[in-house]
Amino acid sequence: MSKGKLFIVAGPSGAGKATLVRALLAADSNVQLSISFTTRAPREGEADGRDYHFVSRETFLAMVDHGDFLEHAEVHGNLYGTSQTWINEVIAKGQDILLEIDVQGAQQVRRHFAEAVGIFILPPSAEVLEQRLRNRGTESEEAILRRLANAREEISHVGEFNYVIINEHIDQAVRDIIGIVRAERCHFASQAVRHNALINALQKG
Ligand code: 5GP
Repeated sequence: MSKGKLFIVAGPSGAGKATLVRALLAADSNVQLSISFTTRAPREGEADGRDYHFVSRETFLAMVDHGDFLEHAEVHGNLYGTSQTWINEVIAKGQDILLEIDVQGAQQVRRHFAEAVGIFILPPSAEVLEQRLRNRGTESEEAILRRLANAREEISHVGEFNYVIINEHIDQAVRDIIGIVRAERCHFASQAVRHNALINALQKG
């Protein structure tokens, strides 16, 4: 069986990553979302095991020592990490995986999976970015300002990604992300493995 593909979705808070990811998962059942571990406290409406695995800093650091993470990083003062075991199991089953992680995590993943496909989500303007962060209403002024400063740093890494989606009109952005995943699956390198028998049979007289 061919191995699944690894998609990385990154971009600043307020770019609308979560909405795009949800729409992609609803439209494409072959893509599995990796549920990250974090030391951040759950926001209202978030559930353990669905949005994140919420753990203490102590547990997280023990997992780092144990080599449990494919990548991990500190973002906005909290620790976030991707489970190595889960990724290996799902990829071996031939399923595609989507990681919604920050740019530091993306760099670490590329070291292990050079063929990972990076998708960067941008807001249509600086004003919209700030407005989206403020509209959440779940964060303190200090946290919002920190996220705005981090957004500028995060965006400076856009050139490390294979694809860029400008999230101005959500319907269009959803079509973009679905299209990218489908196009990547149709790449010759992927199809040659998945449909090796067919391609050979079709060449015989
Ligand atoms: P939030 O706290 O808003 O859910 O996420 C904050 C940032 O952490 C986002 O940019 C998100 O992509 C990133 N993030 C979430 N999970 C992971 C992870 O497992 N690894 C890394 N490196 N970043 C993550």
